[in-house]
Amino acid sequence: MKYSNFMEVTFKALSINEGFARVCVASFCVQLNPSVDEITDIKTAVSEAVTNCVVHAYPNAIKGDITLRCELEDDVITITVIDKGVGIKDVEKAREPFYTSKPGEDRSGMGFTVMESFMDEVEVTSNSFGTTVKMTKKIVNTMSEVRC
Ligand code: ATP
Ligand code: MG
Repeated sequence: MKYSNFMEVTFKALSINEGFARVCVASFCVQLNPSVDEITDIKTAVSEAVTNCVVHAYPNAIKGDITLRCELEDDVITITVIDKGVGIKDVEKAREPFYTSKPGEDRSGMGFTVMESFMDEVEVTSNSFGTTVKMTKKIVNTMSEVRC
């Protein structure tokens, strides 16, 4: 392994912070010199994961935290989105295309499917104390020689 870097931010689970999370990850990933398509894929996947925390993790009035961690190891980016909310009872079911627990609220049930399409790997772990979504993507367009 030649190159390694990470960042972590924690913010309140409010929809206004979805844009912040996207820009935050995009700014950090720029050091791997991704293509516009790659950065768009990453931003979309982050958006879906953070939106899920905002919409599903904290159903009560008091909103909890979301932690967004981003790690770079050579040309591979790993993004972890963590909440301490209600958790997902059946992760396998939740990952099925078109499954949503909120069908009457304009949800299409495609969030996890989008994450899977745009990232190389998506791992979901969940219990009654919260949910962790870990996504990895190899940046093909990287130019490692310009990094220091
Ligand atoms: P869409 O993302 O298309 O608007 P959706 O959020 O319902 O709809 P997914 O993102 O695929 O669809 O998530 C599927 C289901 O998994 C959700 O309906 C919800 O029940 C559950 N879920 C996802 N993320 C979380 C989370 N962080 N905490 C609790 N439940 C979650
Ligand atoms: Mg969703």
